[in-house]
Amino acid sequence: MFSRFFTPQFFESGDLTLDGSEAHHLIHVMRIKPGEIVELFDGQGQTGQAEVVSVKKRDVELRILTICCEAPPSSEIIIGTAVPKGDRFAWLIEKATELGVTRIVPLTTVRSSSDPRDSKLERLRQTVVSACKQSGRNRLLEIAPVTMWSEFVRHEFPNRSAYIAHPADPIQTDLRHPFLGKPNSSMLFAIGPEGGFTDEEFRLAIAAGGKPISLGPLILRVETAVLAVAALGLARQCL
Ligand code: SAH
Repeated sequence: MFSRFFTPQFFESGDLTLDGSEAHHLIHVMRIKPGEIVELFDGQGQTGQAEVVSVKKRDVELRILTICCEAPPSSEIIIGTAVPKGDRFAWLIEKATELGVTRIVPLTTVRSSSDPRDSKLERLRQTVVSACKQSGRNRLLEIAPVTMWSEFVRHEFPNRSAYIAHPADPIQTDLRHPFLGKPNSSMLFAIGPEGGFTDEEFRLAIAAGGKPISLGPLILRVETAVLAVAALGLARQCL
């Protein structure tokens, strides 16, 4: 497998200059030399192989050899989640990228304790790029702007298989069975903060058509719950 580099612009046959952090990675970390072949991806499904033509101090000239376009996935996994503290959110983003989650929506809920600034979300986008490079994923995981719970429910729940993970509710759809919903349909999950969703927030989700789900008898941390539902979504997509 060739070393992979991210170039956000759509590329065509011919030459392309790689600069910034991707050029730094190619030149100083991977120490790739002229004549070697690398793989490029644009984060929107386009990939290509390219030959390194010349390496300068800060940029790299590449010659595109092949171009390929990957079809978008037939179904999406969308996860709205309260934001865990510190590095845990970056960890969550990395793992969600590897598991094929389409979009993460950071949520503001009544009991949320962390509300990431835009600058932090921007840094997390670099985490997504790194996880895509490492895992072979060609479409970036999308990190949506921070969204209020009520907005999320109003805009995202209608016309989707939407599940709210809520350990306090006695009537649960048992999501340990991974075959919920129509085959190939998109799935949306909501994960609350360490303090849980309030009864009011839960009621709002149910009124909008959301189904309560159990992730088992143990209480999971926010990031663990996100990975649990991501893995269920992945299992469904692999059927
Ligand atoms: N004390 C809180 C627990 C919060 S855990 C409460 O009782 O609600 C953080 C979030 O992870 C929860 O809001 C829920 O969305 C999800 N979660 C954790 N463990 C879960 C489980 N066993 N079943 C369903 N959801 C769970």
